[in-house]
Amino acid sequence: MARNTGPKCRQCRREGTKLYLKGARCETQKCAMTRRPTRPGQHGAKRTTLTPFGVQLREKQKLKRIYGVLEKQFGIYVSKALNSKGIASESLLQILESRLDNIVYRCGFATSRAEARQLIRRGIFKLNNVEVNVPSIQVKAGDIVMPIAFDKLHLKEGYTIPKWLEANVQEKYVKIDRLPSGDDVNEPVNAQLIVESYSR
Ligand code: SF4
Repeated sequence: MARNTGPKCRQCRREGTKLYLKGARCETQKCAMTRRPTRPGQHGAKRTTLTPFGVQLREKQKLKRIYGVLEKQFGIYVSKALNSKGIASESLLQILESRLDNIVYRCGFATSRAEARQLIRRGIFKLNNVEVNVPSIQVKAGDIVMPIAFDKLHLKEGYTIPKWLEANVQEKYVKIDRLPSGDDVNEPVNAQLIVESYSR
């Protein structure tokens, strides 16, 4: 499956905000956005004024980078969101949040979505009691995600699971209680600007 293999910290610096792409390192002083928060490149420190189109483009790139989705797949998600019954921007966030790699990350089974994708490809998760190895699977309310090899997980210490997920500690699984609404998603991105750019 195609994925963005470029330097992760460079992506944060390009967007001017922490996108938390590298797991535990993102919380430390080693974070590139702490040490060198300017845009990458020779003229990165220069200020630039963005056009309205530029602002929309940056928001789209940011969202794609946060969830590790490439252009073609992202376009499919936006079309689905635009054709959904609800508010398109909220639907877009809900579709991205429903990806299995994001769910594994939100459950605290991985320190980043990239790590979650690796773990899923290695086949150490079951979805509704069936082994899965496709990170882009869309989950639905009521689905159950269960790791089958705990020794391979890097559980996030002191992590609080989102309200829309329900952890069963004894049985060692997480149930998707409901799909998240727009208010549940706390990413530094304006999804409304993105859907507007697609609906022109
Ligand atoms: Fe982004 Fe994490 Fe790198 Fe910081 S350490 S720049 S948050 S990927």
